[in-house]
Amino acid sequence: MAFPEIHKKLFIGGEWVESESGERFEVTSPGDGSIIGTCAKGTAKDVQAAIEAAREGQKALAKLSVMRRAEMLHDAARIANRRAEEDSTLLCREVGKTIREARDEVKVYSNPHFIEAAEGLKRLRGLVHPSTQEDSNNKRILVTHEPVGVVGVISPWNWPNDIPNIAASHGLAAANSLIFKPASTTPFSAIALAEIYEEAGFPAGSVNVITGPGDVVGEELVSNPGTNAISFTGETVTGERLTRIAGIKRLLLELGGNGPLVVMDDADLDAAVEATITGCFYLAGQVCTASERVLVHHAIHDVFVEKLVARTRLVKMGNPLHEDTDMGPLNNPANARKVQAHIDDARARGGRFLTGGGSNGLYFEPTVVDGVTSDFLMARDETFGPVAPIMTFGTVDEAIEIANETPYGLQGAAFTRSLKTAFALAEGIRCGTVHINESNNYWDQLAPFGGMKKSGLGRELSDWVFGELTETKQITIDLSRS
Ligand code: NDP
Repeated sequence: MAFPEIHKKLFIGGEWVESESGERFEVTSPGDGSIIGTCAKGTAKDVQAAIEAAREGQKALAKLSVMRRAEMLHDAARIANRRAEEDSTLLCREVGKTIREARDEVKVYSNPHFIEAAEGLKRLRGLVHPSTQEDSNNKRILVTHEPVGVVGVISPWNWPNDIPNIAASHGLAAANSLIFKPASTTPFSAIALAEIYEEAGFPAGSVNVITGPGDVVGEELVSNPGTNAISFTGETVTGERLTRIAGIKRLLLELGGNGPLVVMDDADLDAAVEATITGCFYLAGQVCTASERVLVHHAIHDVFVEKLVARTRLVKMGNPLHEDTDMGPLNNPANARKVQAHIDDARARGGRFLTGGGSNGLYFEPTVVDGVTSDFLMARDETFGPVAPIMTFGTVDEAIEIANETPYGLQGAAFTRSLKTAFALAEGIRCGTVHINESNNYWDQLAPFGGMKKSGLGRELSDWVFGELTETKQITIDLSRS
């Protein structure tokens, strides 16, 4: 099917405008290499203009009542649901994720954020605090929440609709203004979000989009003192750089992962195999929460691996737009080079490739590698590709030690029928989330999400993200002097 090319501009202060440089960049589809369209290539000056517009937009938004903001978010949900199929197809084309995965992202994960933010806003309450002072009967201490101000929302290419919309929907609910800076291989989904917010009636300047290179647009957003908070999702190495250039401002960092999936000897093996398939091959393994290491108890190793290989061979790789495709291509050549380097390293270290291991351009086969040890690149670093590296262990303590030996700590999972073992693993694994008898790639939209160690700072999703995007203020009143 041929799609017309799409050409989009920057969105600054309620106007769709070209970059001040007049330059544009092309976006291609990883599925077939075709050109999707072009976007304006923003500059530092464009970011500065957006920050000014966002200051004014924030004031206008903060003047609106809570109920009006909630109503606009409900309108945004209706608009987003109306265009969901079109936005899912665009997402499928720009990321290379399958059309079913794209619909999941838009309809199951991103669009509900509008409603969660609207409802959460009505629960965003303060406190009346007791005073510890001598004259405490005269003191009233109120705790309130205020918007942080202008929020830069810098997002990655693997979830370009859902991820920026977590901070966007909740940030706007709490009367912050936004500047989106989407990944350059997948800019159209964030632009779609801005169109939705514009149609829902958010004031001019409260939502802005600057597309363009991360090291220009992203760095200006982060280092410019005019932004009050940055919601960044991306690689750990980029997040580390942002901490150095941000100065003093709120940083919500959702970074890389190297998620362990532990399979104990008493586990439901069929369930563990299915979870491994979802954990390793969903979105061709390009998920921060993916099962990047599969830790298998040696007593059930042979039977588990046999089942896993048979099931992996059923994963259908192909054109992401086809309804029956299970797994599409990788998103971009840089990621493909990284995945290939991890595969080459595993071969050089004697890893046993039980299925897969081949590639054609951006299409990498679903792969199971046995005999992986802690010195393999795929055990130490995030592979971000469709690979299930099998490692073995003998005791719960050993499993926890291996699980914790990387610098990452985003999302872990474990399969066991023993409550005692479940708690030992859940409490021992240093990750922001540990799922018991559920895949690493499971997310619950109302629960806190975020990483420990080098996987991030802060927690997001639903009410938790309000904590990151509001300032908590104390107001003390002495009644004796009033
Ligand atoms: P990158 O860190 O390469 O890029 C993320 C975003 O940052 C892009 O918009 C990019 O723009 C921008 N950027 C790049 N360099 C800079 C810079 N110097 N200053 C400011 N912004 C910059 O990550 P990827 O896009 O490759 O995303 C994949 C990574 O994201 C993986 O490590 C994955 O684990 C992580 N991730 C984490 C999640 C979590 O919740 N913890 C969720 C999803 C992904 P441009 O594209 O123009 O370079």
